[in-house]
Amino acid sequence: MYEVKVLFDGYSGIKEDGYYANCTCTLLKGPQNIIVDTLTPWDGEKLRAALNQHQLECEDIQYVICTHGHSDHTGCNYLFPKAKLIVGYCISFKDRYFDHNFKDGETYKINEFVKVLPTPGHTMEDVSLLVETKNKGCIAITGDLFEREEDIIDESIWQSAGSMDVILQSKNRYKILEIADWIIPGHGPMFKVLEEYRVKGYGDKVPNTSDNSESSTTLENM
Ligand SMILES: [Zn+2]
Repeated sequence: MYEVKVLFDGYSGIKEDGYYANCTCTLLKGPQNIIVDTLTPWDGEKLRAALNQHQLECEDIQYVICTHGHSDHTGCNYLFPKAKLIVGYCISFKDRYFDHNFKDGETYKINEFVKVLPTPGHTMEDVSLLVETKNKGCIAITGDLFEREEDIIDESIWQSAGSMDVILQSKNRYKILEIADWIIPGHGPMFKVLEEYRVKGYGDKVPNTSDNSESSTTLENM
């Protein structure tokens, strides 16, 4: 079984002088230690210090998984010399590359508790993790498939954060909402999946793209 520790809650939003964002960064402590999304390249020291607080060194991490290839999710991959890397659909260790068919929907199994599944939409090669835990059931770590909890009610939040395929992303969001008990989103704190978030027949649901006018006000505080 795994302990899931959010090391840093992500954020995103507009401040007076521009747009700011950093990702949610999560440690999975268990049979193989895993880091999910590694902040920006300027965050190395704080990430190392956060690991030390959990009695781990960078060398103790066996997998680094980036939900997609954007710079605020991959910045400190260099910190983990012994880790196998999964960045979106690409799996590698040093200069060696491994084939895996995420493209056709195939799940990659790290072990009996942790699976990586393709959830494209934000980019066309996004992945999410499903983690079985003792206390919280199934936790999904989704990267920017979900920006933060508020984007379930106000869909303009995830859509305006950038989506390469809104329909596909919407389908994958509903799929995760059906499976997961908790979600760790790309740019906000972990949240519980409430029953009203689960919509039956998600495959047919068309996302609501009609009103994006609220996005700048909702982003304002973070
Ligand atoms: Zn992001």
